[in-house]
Amino acid sequence: MGTNVITSLTRRAALQLNYICRHQSTTSTCSSYDLVIVGGGIIGCATAREIIMRHPNMKIAIVEKENALAMHQTGHNSGVVHAGMYYTPESMKAKLCVEGLKLSYEYFCKNNIPHKKIGKLIVAQDPAQIKRIDELFDRGTKNKVPDLQIVEKDCISKYEPKCKGEKALWSPWTGIVDWAVVCKSFAEDFRKMGGEIFFNCEVIGFAELTESKGSSQLSCISVQSKNRCIPTKYVLTCGGLHADRLAVMTGCDVNPRIVPFRGEYLLLNENKRHLCTTNVYPVPDPRLPFLGVHFTPRVNGEVWLGPNAVLAFSREGYRWFDINIKDCIELAKFPGLYKLCYRYFLPGCKEIIKSIFYPLAVKDLQKFIPELTYKDVKRGSAGVRAQAMDKDGKLVDDFVFDVGTGMIGSRVLHCRNAPSPAATSSMAIAKFIADKLDHDFKF
Ligand SMILES: Cc1cc2nc3c(=O)[nH]c(=O)nc-3n(C[C@H](O)[C@H](O)[C@H](O)COP(=O)(O)OP(=O)(O)OC[C@H]3O[C@@H](n4cnc5c(N)ncnc54)[C@H](O)[C@@H]3O)c2cc1C
Repeated sequence: MGTNVITSLTRRAALQLNYICRHQSTTSTCSSYDLVIVGGGIIGCATAREIIMRHPNMKIAIVEKENALAMHQTGHNSGVVHAGMYYTPESMKAKLCVEGLKLSYEYFCKNNIPHKKIGKLIVAQDPAQIKRIDELFDRGTKNKVPDLQIVEKDCISKYEPKCKGEKALWSPWTGIVDWAVVCKSFAEDFRKMGGEIFFNCEVIGFAELTESKGSSQLSCISVQSKNRCIPTKYVLTCGGLHADRLAVMTGCDVNPRIVPFRGEYLLLNENKRHLCTTNVYPVPDPRLPFLGVHFTPRVNGEVWLGPNAVLAFSREGYRWFDINIKDCIELAKFPGLYKLCYRYFLPGCKEIIKSIFYPLAVKDLQKFIPELTYKDVKRGSAGVRAQAMDKDGKLVDDFVFDVGTGMIGSRVLHCRNAPSPAATSSMAIAKFIADKLDHDFKF
């Protein structure tokens, strides 16, 4: 048996990887894996579980660059189980969120995952927002969000005693859960069914591997990290904050790019937790991409206020001073970013000021719960959103999947944009991807 690596990397990297792969060739052959999934976040783990359930004889591995699962977006989010009223009817987000919500609750109950269906109140504070409440109700109804109710001003306190507003939308199916716990549970199911997980394995390229067996030639993909090459027939990437980089490795267009937006939270002091018992959200501004700073109780009893949205200087930059030179240079060279900054200059500056002087952010929150003061909160943790952006600086709203070119590209499917509510939608996204792989790759 002979192996030959035709790589898509630079010549130097190719020679190095060629060396590693040749030295692994006694154990690594084209039949080693049927599918390798890059990324141990909730999308990678939910999909790995779904595929191995459908095809128990397939040999599947997840490769993750960190030493644990759920280390990025999946482990740094609001922990909300979204019900689906925000999203454009008929979009993938709308369909997969509503389906994902039902599948998630079924899964939590079956697997004893701590969660609470505490509901959500979207609260209007002025006449323009009151109109948006009615629009959100219509949108939610079109999206088949269960049991939405319009709440008039005088009844708001029945749902959240300390909350004030002019009108609200009540969603009883919205809930809370720790998505990192859910992700690890998916991974555990996957492992029990024979799946493997490799940690500390950052994928840096894909190469074509050809193997001669007698007179016939087999070809497959070598998934390459600094210390390991994993031969596989097919690949799925779910790289979150690095999704665009993984896609480019197989000949996909560089756009949409991932632009990292940090979302910082404030933490409500323990003696003030009674101020908030349900999710309280503002009416989202349709001109802005994110849902707005909200009050979110956590399953562990904490209450988080946030997240804001500020540009991060590192794709994994959880603090202001986390700066990654490579990420900054890429951002500086990306024309879409300048167009976005031009479009959102004023709201962007306001977010930065409120991030630095957080009592100003508390002022916004006081509109909803007037009893809240800046002394009741302290700085909490943060997450970084992997937001796909096109070259015109427009944020890509819906989930995006992509395939590359050539022999390698045609065997690799990339999940390029999985923003919120992708955690809620993860089980439905997993089914969507599994159907696509069954169809396109003939599993
Ligand atoms: C602040 C914030 C709040 C949010 N709130 C909610 C919410 O309340 N409800 C909700 O439903 N959604 C929410 N979301 C969205 C949700 O968290 C994400 O959509 C979801 O976690 C995406 O999962 P993922 O698997 O695609 O990405 P990730 O969780 O980021 O996982 C990607 C994985 O790929 C790995 N990886 C990347 N590159 C490589 C490589 N080259 N080699 C190997 N491994 C690699 C990374 O290390 C990472 O573990 C929120 C997100 C943020 C940031």
